[in-house]
Amino acid sequence: MLKRRDFLKAAAVAAASSGALPGFIGHAAAAPAKARMHVVIVGGGFGGATTAKYLRMWGEGSVDVTLIERNPAFVSCPMSNLVIGGLKQLEDITVSYDNLKSKWGVKLITDDATAIDVAKRTVTTARHGTIGYDRLVLSPGIDFVASRIGGLEGNEERVPHAWKAGPQTALLRKQLEDMPDGGVFAMHIPRAPYRCPPGPYERACLVANYLREAKPKSKVLVLDANGEIQSKKGLFTEAFARYGALIEYVPNSALQSVDAASLTAELEFDSIKADVLNVIPPMRAGTIATAAGLPLVNDAWVDVDWLTLEAKGMPGVHVIGDALFPAPTMPKSGHMANQHGKVVAAAILNIAAGLPPNPAPVVMNTCYSFVDSKNVIHVASVHQFDAEKRQPMPVSGAGGLSAAPNEIEGKAALAWARNIWADMLA
Ligand code: FAD
Repeated sequence: MLKRRDFLKAAAVAAASSGALPGFIGHAAAAPAKARMHVVIVGGGFGGATTAKYLRMWGEGSVDVTLIERNPAFVSCPMSNLVIGGLKQLEDITVSYDNLKSKWGVKLITDDATAIDVAKRTVTTARHGTIGYDRLVLSPGIDFVASRIGGLEGNEERVPHAWKAGPQTALLRKQLEDMPDGGVFAMHIPRAPYRCPPGPYERACLVANYLREAKPKSKVLVLDANGEIQSKKGLFTEAFARYGALIEYVPNSALQSVDAASLTAELEFDSIKADVLNVIPPMRAGTIATAAGLPLVNDAWVDVDWLTLEAKGMPGVHVIGDALFPAPTMPKSGHMANQHGKVVAAAILNIAAGLPPNPAPVVMNTCYSFVDSKNVIHVASVHQFDAEKRQPMPVSGAGGLSAAPNEIEGKAALAWARNIWADMLA
């Protein structure tokens, strides 16, 4: 028999996730609840940290949660372009994992997860042995497929991506500071889908914003493998135009190879010499997910069941965040990974209580982009599970786009970052 306490908890979980009235799952047949579940999470970024906290918070401590994360602290990709543009420091975008441990009772293992055995339900780590799980949540983000660009592999110190925040962010900032006035900062954007569709265009604006003040004879050259700007197109087109000769945008510029020694970018019909070369390589789901035999779409992103976020055909293995194959128009964003984290926490707690997952989850996204030190634009969308299509679909009329860059959204963007970091980690 399902205990009343469990029912109330599960209903509250489902309601918190979906916005629906508590009790709407109350007619579900309940299976006997398991005494205590152990959930292992790999990846303490936007998706994994949120899952860890919400499993413990919504579950009121009823499930054990182990989080395996290789980095000692969380460093945010959102706002990291401000560090590259000289407007923030790395410390401003770094948050401790301490609250997850001391306040929420998450067991944190600072280590690399090196392998998963789905049959045995274990995760192997580099230094902490093998850990068993009842349910596994993978939120490893992305890894790069640098081999698709000749000369790039092994040269990330000379040709940084800065597409995972941390030392690479500081390195690219340093290279920009060392660049002479009159230099060329060339950046390459891979073909979509990639992490954070508007992020590269925000970076171009913030580098140009810095150059306008510090090195006005210089230029940002944006080599986009795509045929057009991938997000907030009209707004970024206008923002680029306002920078005049400081930004040159070149679509259909797929990079073939780089010469790291001379910082030369080879395109199909052109060869470009840069002073700073920032190549964002093609990407796929984090290696721990792609190496585990999970079903992949385009050999890159994990195919999931959208009600539980389990990898298709792999019960008990949930995949969230950038690593999954997204539903139509769903961006690879921190905000979305945070939403996935809540959906998966709710689903797991329902399963632990012997209840079905919420049948109609709703997730939303908001993404702010700085076009200079103060003015910001946003895009927002809402995605609701469609029972016929078996995946979330964009809700027409919900969400939207800024009319123009403005300072009010500049304040909202900074508040968004503080709030989402707190939602995950405070
Ligand atoms: P991550 O947040 O990357 O977390 C993955 C974690 O897993 C990492 O901490 C990694 O160390 C860990 N990990 C991976 N493999 C292992 C392993 N084997 N063992 C142990 N640990 C492992 N999104 C927004 O919503 N708004 C923005 O304004 C925004 N701006 C961005 C700007 C830039 C420059 C960039 C690059 C991204 C931006 N994003 C933004 C996108 C956002 O950062 C990602 O979508 C988000 O981080 C995805 O969350 P995730 O949990 O999937 O991956």
